[in-house]
Amino acid sequence: MKTNMHIAIDGPAGSGKSTVAKRLAQRLDMTYIDTGAMYRAVTYKAIQKGIRPGDRQGIIDTAAGIRIELKGSEILLDGADVSGNIRDPLVDARVSEAASIPEVRERLVALQRQMAQKGAVVMDGRDIGTSVLPDATFKFFLTATPEERAKRRYKDLAGSNPGMDFDMVMKDMQRRDLLDSTRGHSPLRAAEDAIIIDTTGKSIETVLQEITDIVGGAGRCFTK
Ligand code: C5P
Repeated sequence: MKTNMHIAIDGPAGSGKSTVAKRLAQRLDMTYIDTGAMYRAVTYKAIQKGIRPGDRQGIIDTAAGIRIELKGSEILLDGADVSGNIRDPLVDARVSEAASIPEVRERLVALQRQMAQKGAVVMDGRDIGTSVLPDATFKFFLTATPEERAKRRYKDLAGSNPGMDFDMVMKDMQRRDLLDSTRGHSPLRAAEDAIIIDTTGKSIETVLQEITDIVGGAGRCFTK
């Protein structure tokens, strides 16, 4: 594997990007970096500290002092595994606020770039192709209809949150999409040179194969 190969996968919630990015990294023997988990970890810690919505400085201070490590699919926050905790609907409800604060983004983007410098990575998020890794070897932007994205999200959440209701999931997702795509600092958007893939009606395997074909076809020397 060429050690500086960077693959950026961006898109809104429920577009399938995390599952595809994780499986692609395994397939190509690259490190997977889930940047959404990092914004979630800051939000989770702020909630734990009792920081109230709207307390910008409280969130900035939380991000400044945080230690985040990504070990495969485990997220360690100050050394403790919080992989399950950061998927809580309470975190969903507040993560876009934390992610809209420039100081929080600057801190996490610096960490993300440090991680990418260490070798070949597949990084997923909202601003990877546009801001974190503008020179990424490949940039993909995954989309799907709002209905399909909400269905996927509902399926993911229903197991651990039996009280979850589909309309609530849809509303929360739309609220998050709006906040993420209209914020002033590095909003959710496709880079001009990103390859856009509509995943509506497609299985993870189909999307994964589409991406692998592009990566393999464009740069056979990169793949194993
Ligand atoms: O990808 P995931 O849904 O876990 O991301 C959670 C939230 O983190 C997003 O709704 C967005 O507010 C924020 N985020 C971001 N930039 C990224 C990744 C995630 O702003 N690169």
